[in-house]
Amino acid sequence: NADTAMYHAKASGRNNYQFFRAEMNARAVRRLFVETSLRRALRQGEFLLHYQPKIDLASGAMTGAEALIRWQDPDLGLVYPAQFVPIAEENGLIVPVGRWVLREACRQVQAWLDSGLHAVPVSVNISAMEFRHENFLEGLALILKETGLAPRYLQLELTESILMHSVEASASVLEALKAMGVQLAIDDFGTGYSSLSYLKRFPIDTLKIDQSFVRDIVTNADDASIVAAVIGMGRNLKQRVIAEGVETQEQLALLQARHCDEGQGFHFSHPVSARDFARLLVTGNDELPQQRPD
Ligand code: C2E
Ligand code: MG
Ligand code: MG
Ligand code: MG
Repeated sequence: NADTAMYHAKASGRNNYQFFRAEMNARAVRRLFVETSLRRALRQGEFLLHYQPKIDLASGAMTGAEALIRWQDPDLGLVYPAQFVPIAEENGLIVPVGRWVLREACRQVQAWLDSGLHAVPVSVNISAMEFRHENFLEGLALILKETGLAPRYLQLELTESILMHSVEASASVLEALKAMGVQLAIDDFGTGYSSLSYLKRFPIDTLKIDQSFVRDIVTNADDASIVAAVIGMGRNLKQRVIAEGVETQEQLALLQARHCDEGQGFHFSHPVSARDFARLLVTGNDELPQQRPD
């Protein structure tokens, strides 16, 4: 029971401490290992992007896609961002990794356009350190120039915490991005601490409702109210609203009833390889479940 557990913990306090030290070392070693592997991944081209469709909920048409990074590690196989993006954000490697993501997304969309496909705008997730990097705007302008991609085909997804960190500085970077012709979205909306009065001043095109609010939208009245409130706010501020994490027909029906503009989630499609995504562009997304509101 708890008492004896406590007794043993005290009695073996010194061992616990050593165990704790060992665990700390193991974490530090793992981080170092990931950092070394990430440098190699950058050098040897082990990253790739998957693309997940965004669907217009009124027409069922594909309106865009989100580019999501994956890492094809020779030993570990396909590694998802949760396993390495936070570490890259801590050690600064997210800056060159993010640069690669932007370049690859722009290159890919332009390649689709060049091959005659009816390409859609693609959004790229931007971390705080990238957004605040002094060369961010310059670097992005260069990538657009070198890939030849029209800026309207690129959307950047930023979280509330990135924008609220330094409101004045953020506003001026956002204005510069809008002046370039790039689209802007707030990702994971509702999970941060946005001041709504500041939000109004940012030139944002799209609000992405976080999937944590969408998950229980059918059964949880609070979540349904929050989603309805964001949709109403978006309408008033002339921003498009997209629901993330749409997994079921029931969630979709509720979002359509609330006149949410767009949806993204496993119900429509998982994120897929560039090759599979090109097939969706060719077939005019006939392969996706067609959604007709009544
Ligand atoms: P996010 O930007 O909010 O991306 C949405 C995540 O939800 C993706 O996970 C996507 O695969 C997943 N998802 C999509 N539909 C559904 C659904 O119906 N149900 C559920 N449960 N999940 C769904 P992923 O690809 O593992 O990415 C996780 C996070 O990693 C992203 O969250 C984003 O914050 C970050 N990330 C991904 N790619 C990049 C990148 O290129 N750069 C940066 N800085 N961060 C990235
Ligand atoms: Mg995102
Ligand atoms: Mg999100
Ligand atoms: Mg997220």
